[in-house]
Amino acid sequence: MASIIVHGGAGDFGAEDDSGPCIAGCLNAARIGKRILDAGGSALDAVEAAVVCLEDDPTFNAGFGSALNLRGEVETDASVMRGQDGGAGAIGCLKDVKNPIKLARLVMEQTAHVLLVGDGARDFALEQGIALLPPGALVAPKATAKWKRALQMREGKGHGTVGAVARDDAGHVAAATSTGGTMLKRPGRVGDTPLIGCGTYADDALGACSCTGLGEAIIKATLARHAIDLCAGGGSPHQIAAQAVQQLTRFGGDGGLILVDAKGRVGFAFNSARMARAWIGADGIEGSGFGA
Ligand code: ASP
Repeated sequence: MASIIVHGGAGDFGAEDDSGPCIAGCLNAARIGKRILDAGGSALDAVEAAVVCLEDDPTFNAGFGSALNLRGEVETDASVMRGQDGGAGAIGCLKDVKNPIKLARLVMEQTAHVLLVGDGARDFALEQGIALLPPGALVAPKATAKWKRALQMREGKGHGTVGAVARDDAGHVAAATSTGGTMLKRPGRVGDTPLIGCGTYADDALGACSCTGLGEAIIKATLARHAIDLCAGGGSPHQIAAQAVQQLTRFGGDGGLILVDAKGRVGFAFNSARMARAWIGADGIEGSGFGA
């Protein structure tokens, strides 16, 4: 019953964000994750690989192609959680690391902590043998163009995130989420993505969830944990996702979430205009979408 679902961010994207590359990028990531699952790999390996693929794709707001803060810099947030034992790792406000999700996993596996931020997170990357990129290397031309437009309009409307959740053949679930955060955010701002229970949550007994959308509202809603708690009621993942999104709406946020339940069934819901997503069920059947 190995299955995976990924998202490429939710929001009210501008006309320049056409659905083609978003869907293709999500399908590619889902296939990479599913290949790992089908080869007997763990849900954790699958979600990490899927998110690395999305971080490397400049179509998405994570890794290379991240949204820029008020100073025009990339500061990334990411987290990962393993449902088997509640293991979790995260980084926040991290500069110049190509794949933040890999560092989040190392925080989980190599430290006694859950979340490292800023310079401490960078030092930890160096300690783990991860080379830092030259400043500005994660700034994609498309992100700069959007940033300039946002500055002119004096509003940072753009956001987005990438994420993946999976269940493996051994019955374990995992979740991974990575983002550049919100466009024109204040330097030092940390969103929901690296906060366990907010942007990411996983528990083998119930399922795994990854969120996207306005981080400030997702934090107040503790959205990922809320969605996973709802799994205890036994509804379908689509119903549960839709019910959880109501909580996001209540806190004035736009966005959405993906989830896989303990049986390996996948679901998603969003209250924004779009949420790029793709999934592959245990039966190998693929699905994808962008709008409602
Ligand atoms: N949740 C992300 C953040 O607030 C952005 C997004 O998913 O759209 O940092």
